[in-house]
Amino acid sequence: MEKAINGIHHITVMASDPQANYDFYTDLLGMRFIKKTVNFDAPDVYHLYYADEIGTPGTVLTFFPFPDAKRGKRGSGEITIVAFSVPSNSLNYWANRFSERAVNFDGPFTKFGYSCISLLDPDGMKIEIVADPAADIIAGWNNGDVPADYSIRKFFGVYFYLKNSLKSVELLTNIMGAVLSGTEGNIKRYSFGNEASQAFVDIQEDPDSQPGINGAGTVHHIAWRTANDNEQNNWRNKMIESGLYPTEMIDRNYFHSIYFREPGGILYEIATDGPGFLVDENLDSLGMELKLPAWHESKRKLIEQLLIPLKTKKFVKQN
Ligand code: ZN
Repeated sequence: MEKAINGIHHITVMASDPQANYDFYTDLLGMRFIKKTVNFDAPDVYHLYYADEIGTPGTVLTFFPFPDAKRGKRGSGEITIVAFSVPSNSLNYWANRFSERAVNFDGPFTKFGYSCISLLDPDGMKIEIVADPAADIIAGWNNGDVPADYSIRKFFGVYFYLKNSLKSVELLTNIMGAVLSGTEGNIKRYSFGNEASQAFVDIQEDPDSQPGINGAGTVHHIAWRTANDNEQNNWRNKMIESGLYPTEMIDRNYFHSIYFREPGGILYEIATDGPGFLVDENLDSLGMELKLPAWHESKRKLIEQLLIPLKTKKFVKQN
């Protein structure tokens, strides 16, 4: 039985304009667009996936772009920052890249001894790019818009902003197996896994905080990583024993999921590593076509009419 969660599986964020979202995460941040599908629960809206070359758990950032979505507001009970790991020598590259393209950013600044820069995505989601020695041993994608020497390798971690953190921390540490790895000012840092699966959770407690408002630019949920259905069921039982209310397992085609709200208000998912993103496309053509799960395939024509067009680049393998 897994003693601890194996880090982050994916993070899902609300967005508005899908094209602006696509352009930002592929052209500017150099991530690979690995899946164009729909929100399985609202199939007139895209579900867009960006990741490393094959969609390794721990690298996958996904969006629900509702074209008319109002912008959300960062506040307590939310994940307010998503941080990515880049190789430790690459922050200058990123700062130059953003400067050349007239993209506003802050930094470099230091957090817990790591150099970072931060910026906002087109919907105002806060992103940090962190120079991380753990990224140095992970190969980069050769065919993206950012050279492999500097490209995003994985999630570095997330930032929780909570009105009261006691029960959230108990869940992370006593049940899910995170360990306290440092304190800086009023922020505590917890960690899961190591090297490729390492993920940090920074927690800021602010009793005077106002709750966040969900909308474009805010994190919808975080999915934690588990090996398989059997381990997921063990986690599900542990959550029930802890007084939480996980859903039954839901088939997300690329992984299997359970969902529950943690005590601080953040929506958690626990997702299996498999079956992965190659179940309905091969490696070279990931993200090229609209993919629907079998149970929506009969409505493809209608769904295609409802979705607004999204212009994606043809992937040309260079090496
Ligand atoms: Zn999810």
